[in-house]
Amino acid sequence: MGLASARQTLNVVIMSQPIEVDLLIVGAGPTGLYAAYYAGFRGLSVAIMDSLPQAGGQISALYPEKMIYDVAGYPEIKGQLLVDALVEQVAPFEPQYLLGHRAESLVSTEDYVDVGSHRDLTVRAKAVIITGGIGTFTPRPLPDAETYEDHGLRYFVPKLDDLKGLDVLIVGGGDSAFDWAQSLEPIAKSITLIHRRDKFRAHEGSVAKVLAGPTEVMTPWEVGRIIGDPDVTSVEIFHSGNADRRTLQIQSVVAALGFTADLSAFATWGLEQHKRHIVVDPTMRTNLTRVFAAGDIIDYKDYWDAKVRLISVGFGEAATAVNNSVVTIDPTKKVFPGHSSDPH
Ligand SMILES: Cc1cc2nc3c(=O)[nH]c(=O)nc-3n(C[C@H](O)[C@H](O)[C@H](O)COP(=O)(O)OP(=O)(O)OC[C@H]3O[C@@H](n4cnc5c(N)ncnc54)[C@H](O)[C@@H]3O)c2cc1C
Repeated sequence: MGLASARQTLNVVIMSQPIEVDLLIVGAGPTGLYAAYYAGFRGLSVAIMDSLPQAGGQISALYPEKMIYDVAGYPEIKGQLLVDALVEQVAPFEPQYLLGHRAESLVSTEDYVDVGSHRDLTVRAKAVIITGGIGTFTPRPLPDAETYEDHGLRYFVPKLDDLKGLDVLIVGGGDSAFDWAQSLEPIAKSITLIHRRDKFRAHEGSVAKVLAGPTEVMTPWEVGRIIGDPDVTSVEIFHSGNADRRTLQIQSVVAALGFTADLSAFATWGLEQHKRHIVVDPTMRTNLTRVFAAGDIIDYKDYWDAKVRLISVGFGEAATAVNNSVVTIDPTKKVFPGHSSDPH
């Protein structure tokens, strides 16, 4: 499954009804996605909540086009292709993706855990695994452009087809900006990419591809103001080094200016924390009943310098967390899942 198709498949879920599942995973980064696979393999119904409108966590948000060299079994793999493979691996178990929902509250009881999102969705689960990584990501906003959100200004493009036939302005010089340009080239009518510096932070290979393609790349240029009422109809841009100004006929602006990360949501849930990380024991249990955690967000109790924040480590912790949650959910079950290669 390619980048474009993965992004289009996992649409933002808008729900107001309470839902019930065996296992809720908070965080759809690589750790959460792999945990969802393992939950399916163990026969649990599973939902994955993420504040972002896309799965993939840090990989999809920060370095989708970068090569990763230290994931077991892959001598090298492009970030987004790893995410696509994780999404594909869990797909047969039909997890419920609750994208665009920031988990804000958690109440754990002897029998269940309730998690509430900022859009008033409540999920009741028999166990929860928190795989919140470095926290919720908020896109860095384009200054003075708030009124154009939902009127042509976007920070994500979960459905590429929404930009079909439009003149698109992409703002930014990192991997995401170049990734959006490549994904949108076959769909948009025209693409202009502007960046306020002459140098890009994006992977050299993606920059070279975009420079060789139909996207017009302009540096060093910045957004002056967006024009249109209420929808974007044009954008005034200015040259960072002189007074040169131009007005581009644009119907959609994609701002890819990076993200800020925020872990504060978890601080009010009664979880034991160490330097803002969630403390777990070797079974990945937290101090709260029926609540587990795995991946970048954790620290190991009493071994404060032992945690290694890498994708491969998160995968192992995901399997440990799920297999131990299975026994919490049904004490007649075993922690060891058997082998996936065994006939079943
Ligand atoms: C530039 C860069 C390069 C890297 N390169 C490598 C590499 O080569 N190899 C390697 O192994 N690792 C690498 N890493 C680290 C790797 O990306 C992380 O270890 C990995 O992403 C951790 O996965 P995770 O699922 O635990 O957390 P994350 O990837 O951070 O995912 C957490 C998810 O939880 C969501 N979330 C957080 N809080 C909430 C909430 N309250 N409600 C709902 N959702 C929430 C977030 O939106 C996010 O999607 C790199 C990191 C960066 C930044």
